[in-house]
Amino acid sequence: MVLVQQTQWGIVEAAVLRILAAGYTSFEALALADAHTLATLCKPCAFYTRKAVALIRIAQHIVTLPDGFVSLVTGERSALRAGLLTLPQIGRESADTLLLYGGDHPLFIVDAYARRVLARTGIYADQIDCMRASYDAIQQVIEADIGPVDVATARELHAMMVESSIHHCTANNPRCTKTGAVRRFVDPRKCDAHCPPCSGCPAASLCLYHQNTIVLG
Ligand code: SF4
Repeated sequence: MVLVQQTQWGIVEAAVLRILAAGYTSFEALALADAHTLATLCKPCAFYTRKAVALIRIAQHIVTLPDGFVSLVTGERSALRAGLLTLPQIGRESADTLLLYGGDHPLFIVDAYARRVLARTGIYADQIDCMRASYDAIQQVIEADIGPVDVATARELHAMMVESSIHHCTANNPRCTKTGAVRRFVDPRKCDAHCPPCSGCPAASLCLYHQNTIVLG
């Protein structure tokens, strides 16, 4: 979560594998890590020196909690989030990612992928500007609209936003009616189950951006 900020996932995946191979497989081990050694393992992730220090500080905080990581993500959502935001390299998106996947809180993550898909499809265009509005404002609109959901549904929704953006709703030249862009992973096992063939973005029939592109030719 920290390493992926401003960094492609493939680079992060390789860094995580290096960190694990070096024996940093617990918060206790990370808390005792040497910052320079960890930074070397994190390289070439963006801001790897700063991120290595942040990872160590986060781990040092977690090992002081009564139930470790469980204490970090268990309890009332807004209070937990406020606490997470005091940690280095943790912003709203990172805090919510921890709460959704680590703490089973069914929330909507307003990452760049979600902003792009929502803005282009125009689903909420009459209520909010999904590219420019604040993180919290967009989250409130969407959570009010979809209503209470279970954590599996919330995770699936986030995953669908990410998948849609990676394969179809790319920053430039979205692949509305083309087969999705292929994703390669450092771990080849992931590639086998990824990128199924398709004929285009599943949102094309309801997407304002796509409809306008057709009209404008
Ligand atoms: S139809 Fe095109 S612009 Fe619309 S969400 Fe899909 S990829 Fe993005």
